[in-house]
Parts: sequence; C-alpha cells; structure tokens
Amino acid sequence: MKGITLYTPAKINLSLDVTGRLPDGNHTLETIMQSVSLYDIVTVEKRQSGIAVHCEHPYVPNDRRNIAYKAAEAFFSCCPEKGGAHISIRKNIPVSSGMAGGSTNAAGVLKGLNQLYGNVLSEARILELARSLGADVAFCVEGGTQLARGIGDILTQLPDLVNVEVVLVKPPFPISTPWVYKQLDLNRLGERPDTSGLINAITEMDLQGIASRMRNVLESVSVDKYPELREIMDRFLEYGALASRMSGSGPTIFGIFEESKKAEAAKEQFLKDYRDVFHVKTIGRGEQVEW
Ligand code: ATP
Repeated sequence: MKGITLYTPAKINLSLDVTGRLPDGNHTLETIMQSVSLYDIVTVEKRQSGIAVHCEHPYVPNDRRNIAYKAAEAFFSCCPEKGGAHISIRKNIPVSSGMAGGSTNAAGVLKGLNQLYGNVLSEARILELARSLGADVAFCVEGGTQLARGIGDILTQLPDLVNVEVVLVKPPFPISTPWVYKQLDLNRLGERPDTSGLINAITEMDLQGIASRMRNVLESVSVDKYPELREIMDRFLEYGALASRMSGSGPTIFGIFEESKKAEAAKEQFLKDYRDVFHVKTIGRGEQVEW
C-alpha cells in the first residue's frame, strides 16, 4: 500500500469542568468529549524520506508548525523502518474553533502511517505518541464518547452516543484558548456540570437527561466577553434545540435536537447570518472512514 485517505472527525464537548490549577499553570479538567460527523480529509502517502505537508487553508501552516507534520515526525522517531511521508489535508473543520481540527488530523496521520508501514507500532504506543502531541490528539485516536480527566489526557471510553442530531455554528471571530484559561476565576465558575449524572444519562441514551446536564464552565469567560455567543444559544432554544452549549473554549456553539427536521431548519436560519454552520450527527469510536 502506497497511500491512504482518512476522514478525521471533529469533536464537541458535551460538558467541560475545570477542577483545579496545577503549579505549572496547567488546569485539571473533567470533560466529556464527543466525535461528530464533520470531517477533514487527510491523505497520507509513503515517501522514501522526508516529511511534506500540503494544506490550502490560509491559516494552516505547511511546515513543521503543522501538527500533522509533528505527528509524522513522532511516528518516524519510533518506527524501526526508515521512511517519509507526504500528507495532504483538506479542511472542512473550521480552524481555531474549539473542535480539535488540528488534533484530529494528527491522530489520523499517526494511524495512517502505522497502517502504511505494516502496523509496526502497537495501539498503546500510538496512543502514547498522540498524548505527547496533545490531550485532544489522544482523544481523537479512538474518538466516540470519552471522559477526559487530568490535564485532559486521562481518558475513559464511555458507551458510544450515536446519531444525535447536532447543529454547529462557528462565529467569525477567534478565541484564544490560553487567554480563556488565564481569565478563568476558579472561584466563580458559574454552574458546574454534573459529570456522573451526564455519564448515567449517556449510558441510558436519555437525550433529555443529557441535554439538561450539559454545562461548560469556560462559558463564564468566553460568553461574558462575546455576548453574541449567548444570543446564538438563545436562538438555538427558540429553534427547538433541547440544549445549546459552547464547545471547548469556543467560539463554536452547538445545539442538540431530537428531530432531524428541526435541526435542518435551525441550520437554515443560522445560515442567514453565519457562513460556518453544519448539521451533523454524533458518531461512535473508530468511525473514521478510510479509503
Ligand atoms: P482545540 O479544540 O483542540 O483547542 P481548535 O479547534 O481550537 O483546537 P485547531 O483548528 O486545531 O484549533 O488549531 C488552531 C491552530 O493550530 C491554528 O493556529 C493553526 O494555524 C494551527 N494548526 C497547525 N496544524 C493545523 C492543522 N493540521 N489543522 C488546523 N490548524 C492547525
């Protein structure tokens, strides 16, 4: 096999709680991450040596700064066989949106290269490399529905929550994740998620129970600074969403729906004001299509 194409999915956070701050400035989290059916298309081809990345998106670098490049470097640093890779990325996941676009590309490159090179690395080793690239990369290796704790890197697979109707709206301004964490006042987080209650609701596939328990404490910073985010959430409820929340540190806001028709209608309404609007579904682990 010379090349492989992977559809690498985005994620949303069904809940996000910050449980503490470490002496090194990092925060400890408790978050439930969920893969959704919005995919970047990543093609990985074998070369004799060297790594090259090609992506036409204006905000995505084509060099070492690309996290997909770093993933390939990490792979070859452990691969017993000498080799190289050409990686091309077609972005559908908005950049800097809180949907882990870069991380899912990196996870795809690790898995794609491992397949191309005859599964030389164990799954555990791939996960270890992913973790060294970032907590979200580790989540993206398996995807599905997972609880992340620690600094986001201690992962527990939960029962797959599949086929839930989700609409994503990404407003056209960026929000810096480090900025959000810097502003965060741990004594004023607002409503915290009931993570164990949410896990029970996921296990029972109780969509109402899930909707009523979704919370993201980072909204206390991002929504405060950008009131437009609150307006989008309110609009979601007006359009019949069971609940609406921010993904990660934003700016993407998502709504979950019981009916596809209502979700589609909400998408049409948002498209009048926003360009990056997607009607997707939640997907299970390993649902990363390969060609
Ligand atoms: P997260 O939800 O994990 O915080 P995000 O959705 O906020 O991620 P990304 O789109 O993954 O953000 O990455 C944003 C930054 O990373 C941008 O500055 C972008 O230039 C850089 N970057 C490097 N490699 C990639 C890549 N393969 N895809 C997207 N962005 C990348």
